[in-house]
Amino acid sequence: MSYVKETFDRVKLRDPDQPEFHQAVWEVLETLEPVFEKHPEYVEAKILDRLVEPERTISFRVPWVDDNGNVQVNRGMRVEFNSAIGPYKGGLRFHPSVNVSIIKFLGFEQILKNALTTRPIGGGKGGSDFDPKGKSDLEIMRFCQSFMDELYKHIGASIDVPAGDIGVGGREIGYMFGQYKKLTGKWEGVLTGKGYGWGGSLIRPEATGFGQVYFLREMLASKGEKIEGKKCAISGSGNVAQYCAMKILEYGGKVITMSDSGGYIFDKDGIDESKLAWIQDLKNNKRGRIKEYVSEYKDAVFRSGERPWGEVCDIALPSATQNEIEEKGAKNLVKNGCIAISEGANMPTSPAAYSILNKAGVLFGPAKAANAGGVAVSALEMSQNAAFDEWTSEKVDSKLDQIMTGIHRQCSDAAEEYNQKGDLVVGANIAGFVKVADAMMSQGIV
Ligand code: NAP
Repeated sequence: MSYVKETFDRVKLRDPDQPEFHQAVWEVLETLEPVFEKHPEYVEAKILDRLVEPERTISFRVPWVDDNGNVQVNRGMRVEFNSAIGPYKGGLRFHPSVNVSIIKFLGFEQILKNALTTRPIGGGKGGSDFDPKGKSDLEIMRFCQSFMDELYKHIGASIDVPAGDIGVGGREIGYMFGQYKKLTGKWEGVLTGKGYGWGGSLIRPEATGFGQVYFLREMLASKGEKIEGKKCAISGSGNVAQYCAMKILEYGGKVITMSDSGGYIFDKDGIDESKLAWIQDLKNNKRGRIKEYVSEYKDAVFRSGERPWGEVCDIALPSATQNEIEEKGAKNLVKNGCIAISEGANMPTSPAAYSILNKAGVLFGPAKAANAGGVAVSALEMSQNAAFDEWTSEKVDSKLDQIMTGIHRQCSDAAEEYNQKGDLVVGANIAGFVKVADAMMSQGIV
């Protein structure tokens, strides 16, 4: 049996109840065989065995009091996965589905993604099964403070630097940063995604969605195509989806769908800038549901409980959550002539769906490459904090564009080097892995 297969079997045996983690690990490992053939020294050093085992997993109780005076208890966690190339870095997710399997899948992906950004950042991820939906601002604040009461012991500007993810935006980062500062007495760049004016970087909110579209632009350019005039189906209506839509519009594309966990809206006339601004207000300020869109824009339709992949589109931009494109969605996308997918969400395409898309020759930008813009600008935020400096939005955006273009190039080059030209999934895995593996080799058995 190959080293890759043996390692994967050990992962499943050790943690049999972690399906999302297994999926993320296998999606990477199955593409790495040729790397081990070329580099037997990685096998000898058991690099894979070490890579799939987090350096540290922290799990803790988060007690808080709701507005009715009732005590609530959630679970918090942080997986500090790999620090070979820099401090652990990765978001915090607040969602009822959060468990150790999901946080480990996200943390594992993060290691290779962060390597691709070419910034000195390791991989980590964390979160809680707390559901921010329907909570008052004060409840959110009390929860975030209690979460940080424990987390602060484990993080620091050169140790572990969390950021946002699903359910954690500027408001939550603010409350957690305030509590960290109170507990430690230190103002330092310990969290990214901070507000502008108190350590946040311009373009951080936009970075993941903008980067996803820069990556798409590069993929299309490699085939002589462009975004202008293309019909784009976007899922989600949160941070990533909003700025993905904004950048698509800037490039002259047409956005026909957005969604939330209740279903999706289809607007045949396109969601233009003013409609998008309405959605941003709905989601970011009023904290409403996407179905309200059809009361405002009567020609649009809302499809309850469904995902947008059945609509005729040229480009799909999954930007909500994991495994949101399944077999049926992939078949529909292929049937309807979709030519490219750029993943904004983490692991949004199931393995069966990916195999259908890959066979059909759909251009595919995998999450660890296509959505690396967020963490890349987080690293730029760390640089600005460390230097007590602040950069203009033009400077940050142009660095983001350079980083995303560079990631596309690294993925294409690695795929070509390993005789799989054009396969960006293979390219992203190999380019990210080799960088981390080389750092681990240099640092000895630690
Ligand atoms: P967000 O602002 O909380 O938005 C999440 C969106 O996805 C919302 O529209 C949400 O709908 C929808 N959603 C969540 N769970 C869902 C489910 N189970 N089924 C259907 N829809 C669901 O989060 P975000 O920051 O945009 O993150 C979206 C994705 O991008 C995640 O996979 C995240 O890991 C990834 N990502 C984010 C960043 C970043 O910088 N924020 C960076 C890299 C990757 P509801 O409001 O109904 O829940």
